[in-house]
Amino acid sequence: MSASKAIQKEKRLEDIPGIGPATAEKLREAGYDDLMSIAVESPKALAEICEIGESTAAKIINAAKELIDIGGFESGEAILERRRNIARLTTGSKALDELIGGGLETQAITEFYGEFGSGKTQIAHQAAVNATLPEERGGLNGEVLMIDTENTFRPERIVQMATALDLNPQETLKKIHVARAFNSAHQMLLVEKANELAREKPIRLLIVDSLTAHFRAEYVGRGTLAERQQALNKHMHELLRFGDVHNAVILCTNQVAAKPDAFFGDPTRPIGGHIVGHTATYRIYLRKSKAGKRIARLVDSPSLPEAECVISVTEEGIRD
Ligand code: ADP
Ligand code: MG
Repeated sequence: MSASKAIQKEKRLEDIPGIGPATAEKLREAGYDDLMSIAVESPKALAEICEIGESTAAKIINAAKELIDIGGFESGEAILERRRNIARLTTGSKALDELIGGGLETQAITEFYGEFGSGKTQIAHQAAVNATLPEERGGLNGEVLMIDTENTFRPERIVQMATALDLNPQETLKKIHVARAFNSAHQMLLVEKANELAREKPIRLLIVDSLTAHFRAEYVGRGTLAERQQALNKHMHELLRFGDVHNAVILCTNQVAAKPDAFFGDPTRPIGGHIVGHTATYRIYLRKSKAGKRIARLVDSPSLPEAECVISVTEEGIRD
């Protein structure tokens, strides 16, 4: 357990100067049950929830930040220690694993983007099954949380994929915990819930399928674009933090905006633009090819060359 997580457990909302029992109650009702959730909130949102002035809200947020030492410095030694634990999760395809440097990395966000039917949800299902595998088989010997925004989780598909790997399908299903997110606010709240669940279960993979659909649907029009990006930014940082704290893989999907006037054939513009791009460590663009084949291209990774590979989506799952 990291030091900051331990501190979060000890300190309560009432420890923040300016928060009395009544305000704490209001905050808990709104889903803010630890200091971190307040520390990363915006003064405006907090002011609305607690029915207090924005400047008071800003003071509370700063106090919460101080209490949990957010934005503080971590020693190089601590970072090295944390990074020593980085693990890799197989995607089911050797070629795809190699493309991204040996599999899906823990303490990082990997984003799969592509048009409808390009295989994003299939890859998410396969990763969920694989995460339950022992390390020797490319797994993380863990459990999985999936935030499903489009109601595309299919337990039957998990059964198929688990069976193909000689796993007990029932046992596999027990290790995959799914929550429907009904809107973007709910989706963000589910990351808090995820942190709670991860205190009881060895969660090593958090899937958000789709990361952007609700945000895109809710924030329409030019004026709200900045707000959307801000919310998305906050969401991504909470996801990344989950990955760091629990040494988990974060896998997100993102449907590309269809651009009928696209110059280059493929509508390769992921929703969320540079916000998602700068926070995701690995971005993989998927496009359909013939007969169940998909082409995966690694796009702007910090340490790996831009390259492509071919994967197949089969009855058994994701394969070379
Ligand atoms: P999206 O990128 O929209 O999430 P999906 O991951 O849902 O796309 O991919 C859907 C595609 O996956 C289907 O069109 C089909 O080609 C393939 N697929 C789904 N289930 C199976 C299966 N049981 N066997 C083989 N291919 C499948
Ligand atoms: Mg999908």
